[in-house]
Amino acid sequence: MYLYKLLTEKEQESLKLPDNYPNYPTAEEIIKSESKHKTIIIKMIFGWKKEIWYPLRKKTDIDDNKREELKIKAISDLIISIANIYKKEVNVTFEPGVFSSFYNPETQTIGLNKPSIVSALHELAHHLFGPDEIKACKWSVHLFRKTFPKAYQELQWYGHVLIKPDLAMVKNLTPKLKEEKQEEKQKEKEIKTKK
Ligand SMILES: [Zn+2]
Repeated sequence: MYLYKLLTEKEQESLKLPDNYPNYPTAEEIIKSESKHKTIIIKMIFGWKKEIWYPLRKKTDIDDNKREELKIKAISDLIISIANIYKKEVNVTFEPGVFSSFYNPETQTIGLNKPSIVSALHELAHHLFGPDEIKACKWSVHLFRKTFPKAYQELQWYGHVLIKPDLAMVKNLTPKLKEEKQEEKQKEKEIKTKK
């Protein structure tokens, strides 16, 4: 999510923003063609994954809060290191209460609402390449696919966003589905009481 509202009208015009902003690409648009990445970035992520991310996930002597804090710190370090390769300094903050992770171009700050690598890469893409959603989605999703192939397979598309299946289930549980589930339960109850 790119904070367009911070741009002046003139800047928005120069970026030719669509009227129906935010104009996110579809999953098909994102995956249909490749996105190129610097070899050094891919190497860096593989190293980070092995040396920092996996050991952190395996740690047993910390509680969930501490783990989340350490994950945010680890992801921030990775994002800052990648930005340094492009010589574009970035700030990363943890914003646990906000609806979505975001990038604020005015302060060059990425706000993460959860320790998600794919979201952090998406916001980093905005910092590096600007507000173009297709570019940001492609760059981050393909980089994630190349560096976390197993985790990528396990994610599900929710609109233009890749999320974990448990979250997808919650989000897909529309009011209608909930009603149907309740009806099902009611029927089960009725059958049981008949017996
Ligand atoms: Zn975005």
